[in-house]
Amino acid sequence: MTQVVIIGAGPTGLTLAMLLAQRGISVKLIEASGSFRRIFRGEALMPSGLDAIDRMGLADVVEQIPHRSIDAWEFHIENRPIFRVDEPMESGGKPCTLVSQPALLEAVLDRAAQCENFELIQGTAVRELLWQNERVSGVRLSDDREIAADLVIGADGRNSIVRQQAQLELVQVNQSFDILWFKLPTSPDFQAENVFHSVLRGQNAFGVFQGSEGNLQVGWSLHRDKPVEWQKVDWAEKLAAASPEWLASHFRAQKDAIERPLLLSIVVGRCPQWHRPGVLLLGDAAHPMSPIRAQGINMALRDVIVATNHLVPALQQSPNLTAIDTALAQIQTEREPEIIEIQRLQQAEVAQAELMHNYPILRHAASLLAPAIGGRIRHRWLDRQLQLRRGFSQVDLKV
Ligand SMILES: Cc1cc2nc3c(=O)[nH]c(=O)nc-3n(C[C@H](O)[C@H](O)[C@H](O)COP(=O)(O)OP(=O)(O)OC[C@H]3O[C@@H](n4cnc5c(N)ncnc54)[C@H](O)[C@@H]3O)c2cc1C
Repeated sequence: MTQVVIIGAGPTGLTLAMLLAQRGISVKLIEASGSFRRIFRGEALMPSGLDAIDRMGLADVVEQIPHRSIDAWEFHIENRPIFRVDEPMESGGKPCTLVSQPALLEAVLDRAAQCENFELIQGTAVRELLWQNERVSGVRLSDDREIAADLVIGADGRNSIVRQQAQLELVQVNQSFDILWFKLPTSPDFQAENVFHSVLRGQNAFGVFQGSEGNLQVGWSLHRDKPVEWQKVDWAEKLAAASPEWLASHFRAQKDAIERPLLLSIVVGRCPQWHRPGVLLLGDAAHPMSPIRAQGINMALRDVIVATNHLVPALQQSPNLTAIDTALAQIQTEREPEIIEIQRLQQAEVAQAELMHNYPILRHAASLLAPAIGGRIRHRWLDRQLQLRRGFSQVDLKV
């Protein structure tokens, strides 16, 4: 029987393992972390990702685990509201939905574990790839165990060791910022209406919303050109100083309940080649995504559907290495155009934010002229969002 080894049980690795195992393929999934709660991945799913979840047969799972939709998006510059867009943005469409990632991953694991041909090895990292005649033939784990495979899939995220070991180059897009992530108790304002507020005041910028599990989540952008000793900052006060009054009083009231922030370093880029004989990269390992407008999980799930379509016919034969390697190239060819377009749109959003960050005059103009030009800014923003939410290609699960 053909053996697949998948490295990394994030959204990419777990959903691919489930789909392949459900189609009779023998899958070993290897995850370095002992618990799904320890890895941060964000939790916003756009309509394109919700559609992928549907096609994977997981729509009922989302209904059963903590989830919450976004009701609207609101932008504030220099303490003035600039514009607001209600969800869903398309009539009859789905709203952006926050889905608890640990709960989703555990539920997908339950489904995969129902297949006898599925095995999870958790709490052990992959250290290196094994090669035979210039083809990847398996992996060596950190405890020195060796696992043979007809196909190795690197779903091990933005710092992928599979990518490094396979010597697949990552071309990075320079990023000017990292994100500090905070959690704190929610407020009645967000319980009544879960608005994603984007706040820009001076050179301070952050987003705040109520997450899937009911707490408030804040992503604060930390500019790399101005290093701060963020561990020493009084964050309740700093957040309050940048916020409209109603939000500032909540941050101050929750001063002692704001959790110590988590620093999330941003890596964005794309591999010119996603595969070599015997090995394929998918999700962030092939194309690490910016957190801007929540695309990474959505793109990862769509990669998985396309990979399943191409891999299953090749893997269901008795081991046919040529058929497998041909499928790897087809997967990249089908997925790459959408990834290029989505990353281009994300960079356009970043470029706009950078202009506002660097030029106080633009911030003042936007806040002063908001009543006159807010509608135009809203229209242009909405145009980009509609493309970011739908994706650029039709992704159907065909096998
Ligand atoms: C601040 C921030 C916020 C974000 N918010 C969102 C959002 O709201 N919505 C969205 O769609 N995207 C978001 N993203 C992007 C999203 O997190 C990623 O695109 C997505 O997690 C990619 O999934 P993945 O499965 O490919 O990789 P990952 O989720 O990174 O999973 C990789 C897995 O591989 C495991 N692993 C790594 N190395 C090894 C090894 N050597 N051996 C074994 N296992 C290994 C890791 O432990 C991990 O479980 C955000 C990103 C950031 C940085």
